[in-house]
Amino acid sequence: MNVALASRRTLVVNADMQPLSWAPLSVWSWQDALVAVVQERVIQVKAYEDVFVHSASQIFEVPAVVALKSYKKRRGAAFTRYNLFLRDGFRCQYCGGRFSSKELTFDHVVPRSKGGRSEWSNIVASCAADNLRKSDKTPEEAGLKLIRKPFEPSPFELDQVARKLPFALGDLHETWLDFLYWDSELDRS
Ligand SMILES: [Zn+2]
Repeated sequence: MNVALASRRTLVVNADMQPLSWAPLSVWSWQDALVAVVQERVIQVKAYEDVFVHSASQIFEVPAVVALKSYKKRRGAAFTRYNLFLRDGFRCQYCGGRFSSKELTFDHVVPRSKGGRSEWSNIVASCAADNLRKSDKTPEEAGLKLIRKPFEPSPFELDQVARKLPFALGDLHETWLDFLYWDSELDRS
């Protein structure tokens, strides 16, 4: 396979032309996308202009963006490490500092030893220093204050955060940018 092709992926948008998900960004391998286009399960919205795939008898375009034929409703946000950091904007919820996912850790607001549960409403992103300071205490006991009460985010709320944190979206091919930013431009007016 040629090098240019190997790194290509296909952005998947919902029937409303918005990414199926922002966090993480909905992408397929171009192979999966091409098969789905040929089988008419999705619509090819945009193809890469500089790469093609040859079979024995045919030349195929490589899909850059494909759209689902019917609108897919979103399910609730998965309770994952990434989504939790995303909800908190990669900020320690005690000092407010911005950290990379490697530098952040979790904190149980009500410690597990005091019956605190591992759920959206009791876990926040925390920097290592504040996590150490807080240890097995409640925020009050540790002299720390939460900058925001933790909550269960909707997929839509996570999308809103991810769109403002380009680093959270990973590598973006320029072909996708029309689909990723056009309505955030409108938000500003
Ligand atoms: Zn901190």
